[in-house]
Amino acid sequence: MSKTERGIALVTGASSGIGLVTAQALRRDGYRVFGTSRRPMPDTADGIAMLICDVSSDASVQGVVDEVLSRAGRIDLLVNNAGIGLLGGAEESTTTQAKAVFDVNVFGVIRMTNAVLPVMRRQRRGRIVNLSSILGLIPAPYNALYASTKHAIEGYSESLDHEVRTQGIRIVLVEPGLTRTSFEENITRPDRPLALYDTVRANAEKLMRENVAKGDSPQVVADAIVRVANATSPKRRYT
Ligand code: NDP
Repeated sequence: MSKTERGIALVTGASSGIGLVTAQALRRDGYRVFGTSRRPMPDTADGIAMLICDVSSDASVQGVVDEVLSRAGRIDLLVNNAGIGLLGGAEESTTTQAKAVFDVNVFGVIRMTNAVLPVMRRQRRGRIVNLSSILGLIPAPYNALYASTKHAIEGYSESLDHEVRTQGIRIVLVEPGLTRTSFEENITRPDRPLALYDTVRANAEKLMRENVAKGDSPQVVADAIVRVANATSPKRRYT
């Protein structure tokens, strides 16, 4: 880390939405930033180094962490942002669809954290920001599986924070409300729609469309993440 750098940051899912704007905000704030995407992307004009990573693969996650260490020697901040949506009645999604969303939203965070924690322990310094959601806190019909992934991240992050804070490491949750990104376009919908969900489906889809249009700019979330990254004594969660 050079004297002018705030630290080395790794942001997953930095190809779009909250991850992209967060990577840019951290860069402006003086971090050396590594962003990840599943497809190859050129480094950005403002100096974000882009690396390939699929958080649903152990090998890909370890590969990206090794690459950052070989180029920068340390990791001060990990932003576990990569995530996908699943909108549907609880019984409508297949087990395969349910496993796929858990594999990214929950096990993706666990894989990346397991790969980065030993580095942060050696440094006796580090901060991990996990993207939860307002749906990690409150119930929402037609969102049982997605909300379960974010509730899991809440419990995981709060418990882990207790384990590592004596070693100079903090795990912090950021819980955005609806945010104007491509998240809604990328949402998986049920493979086997059931007629009994027709009304709740129509309401949920309408609410989603209307609320996304009225949602926060991703810049609001990115600014919160930068504040959390730099706070001397962050709280455990930011809603
Ligand atoms: P986007 O769809 O715009 O971005 C999602 C990012 O995740 C993309 O960069 C995508 O990268 C990446 N991604 C998806 N699957 C994988 C994977 N298997 N491995 C690695 N990267 C992956 O959504 P948002 O920016 O809105 O979402 C970011 C986070 O914020 C998510 O965790 C989401 O749950 C959370 N959130 C979003 C809200 C919203 O209203 N938008 C509200 C609350 C929370 P690529 O496809 O290039 O690989």
